[in-house]
Amino acid sequence: MYLEKNILERLTSFRDADYKIESIHLFRDISQDDREHIAHIIKDCAVVKAGSGQVVLDANSSGARLYIVLKGALAITTPNPENKHQENASTQYLAGECVGEISVLDEEIHSATISAIADSELLVIEAETLWKLIDESNGVARNLLQLLSFRIRAANAQIRNRQKVGEFYRQLSMVDGLTGLHNRAWLNTQLPSMIETAHATGNPLSIIMVDLDHFKQFNDEYGHVLGDDALQTAAKVLNAGLRPTDFAARYGGEEMIVILPNTNQRSALIVAERLCSRLQKTRVFADMQKALPHVTASFGLATLQEGQDGSAVIAMADSALYRAKQAGRNQVAI
Ligand code: GH3
Ligand code: MG
Ligand code: MG
Repeated sequence: MYLEKNILERLTSFRDADYKIESIHLFRDISQDDREHIAHIIKDCAVVKAGSGQVVLDANSSGARLYIVLKGALAITTPNPENKHQENASTQYLAGECVGEISVLDEEIHSATISAIADSELLVIEAETLWKLIDESNGVARNLLQLLSFRIRAANAQIRNRQKVGEFYRQLSMVDGLTGLHNRAWLNTQLPSMIETAHATGNPLSIIMVDLDHFKQFNDEYGHVLGDDALQTAAKVLNAGLRPTDFAARYGGEEMIVILPNTNQRSALIVAERLCSRLQKTRVFADMQKALPHVTASFGLATLQEGQDGSAVIAMADSALYRAKQAGRNQVAI
């Protein structure tokens, strides 16, 4: 039967077991009188056996009782909220430590699975008995408070860690691996809100589409590896030429996009001309010795019009880029 595995074999009662009260963290630093009183309260509590691997308590079961590890070790495994079929790394509890106190105190069901990771002996303290200990021993109440604050700190640290890891991966997924610029995914999430802000505030917003000139030819002549170097150099030039409030992203292939919030057409044109001439002057070095031919790019500029969304303003910049190519490349068109 399914439940059978949760039935732990009772070995004896605490009174007849060979364990010392002082070895239990919850009963530490307690006066002799108090200790004797505690021994009296828990004398009939069961000492049970849990074989290695045995589940002591299933997640979502409602057994409100405290388990104190007398021998062996337990592990708590919490379900992973993102993936029900995966579990989070477990926390281990060694001799002297207890588990299950929070469920006793708040009477909520267990959200974690507790199982033995070694042949263990456990002292089982029912909810009623724990409350009696709290009511009648200041020492136990104090130790329990200390334990709870420790648990809160540990839980907070775990949350902060998860947030950090999540943020790290989020950032990573928004950055283009080759150029270090923002990537298309970033653009798709950020551009709509920048456009929304521009429309809402009435501030201008300009974008520049940048496409390297004759880049296929560059690759054909020097190979893809040096092509990548040239692409990286171009990205650096763009990034270095922008204000902290501007953004550059890799749109795809050898095309990049620059977003200039709070920038009208006249100012954006100055930025685009500056980027164009800086790129033209920048040399691409293959190995710090052999200089490759300068890489140039064509620039298409568009300033957001009333009622336009992201695709409309990008399409407009694309048309301008086409005109810059047609007019001979290495230049800016509006
Ligand atoms: P145009 O001046 O008209 O833009 O000519 P083009 O050769 O730059 O344009 P085309 O679209 O024909 O070719 C783009 C080239 O860019 C082809 C492709 O191999 C190269 N390219 C795209 N992405 C990368 C990349 O990540 N690394 C390298 N090395 N080359 C790339
Ligand atoms: Mg292209
Ligand atoms: Mg090109």
